[in-house]
Amino acid sequence: MQIVFLGTSGSWPTPKRNVSAVAVKRGPEIVLFDCGEGTQRQFMQSHLSFMQVSRVFLSHFHGDHFLGLPGMIQSMSMNGREAPLDVHGPRGVEQLVGDLLSLGYFTPGFAVRPKELPPGGQIDCGEYVVKGFEAVHTVPALTFALEEKPRPGRFSTERAEALGVPSGPLYSRLQEGESVRVGDRTIRSEDVLGPPRRGRKIVYTGDTMPHEDLVEVAHHADVLIHDATSDAALEEKANRYGHSSSRQAAAVAKEAEVGLLVLTHLSPRYEDPTTVLEDARKVFGNVRVAEDFMGVDVPYRD
Ligand SMILES: [Zn+2]
Ligand SMILES: [Zn+2]
Repeated sequence: MQIVFLGTSGSWPTPKRNVSAVAVKRGPEIVLFDCGEGTQRQFMQSHLSFMQVSRVFLSHFHGDHFLGLPGMIQSMSMNGREAPLDVHGPRGVEQLVGDLLSLGYFTPGFAVRPKELPPGGQIDCGEYVVKGFEAVHTVPALTFALEEKPRPGRFSTERAEALGVPSGPLYSRLQEGESVRVGDRTIRSEDVLGPPRRGRKIVYTGDTMPHEDLVEVAHHADVLIHDATSDAALEEKANRYGHSSSRQAAAVAKEAEVGLLVLTHLSPRYEDPTTVLEDARKVFGNVRVAEDFMGVDVPYRD
């Protein structure tokens, strides 16, 4: 699984940073979190294709998080997309997407399916789920957690041999969780598999002030992508507009014991993000400031 930052600026784009969009590539599929204006061109300059996007999750309906959606949908359609596109977001997403699709003379050649993700709800995407949590911003907003379902435990060839299971097709059936017959005995998959292994977890806060629940939401995330609109000096101002400072993001990361903290949504004032990074690093060591096109690999922990 790889995270690619396609836009890392808050409010409006700068020459170096486009507005919010975070792509998560998992196998052949891309899950897109937010879609600021110009996201389709950011895709073209990355190694990813917007044609692979299967789902879009919009954190909230401030322009810097969704204005790229109608243009990207048009381009998908003109490039022959047929697969449906699911768009999830806070309440009002059906109306917003309906409005975006009614602009100008255009009807997509594929189904665009908006569906509200209520806070506390989740979307089942097969091998993973995306959960929505209420963020604390100036408008209804969500924080998202992408969590893979647990994987089966490791297969112990040693134990299988000791139990007399002949190698071959019975091994794969045990690996898939089935029981098998060997002679007059039943061997269960749990006899030869280790404990289930946890999947990976990525949390994207969207725009939010720090708040109590965030620590629990981000608990043990492999990667926490956090609003870091300001450095510590401008924290009060950031909070007034429903945002966090990098120092506050780091405090969440520390308490939640995440693997890596990535700071994004920097105010356009930070042409040089040094203070943003340093204020966070004083609190939590494993931290990076996102740059456009930066990739972060998320390996399994076991
Ligand atoms: Zn924003
Ligand atoms: Zn916002």
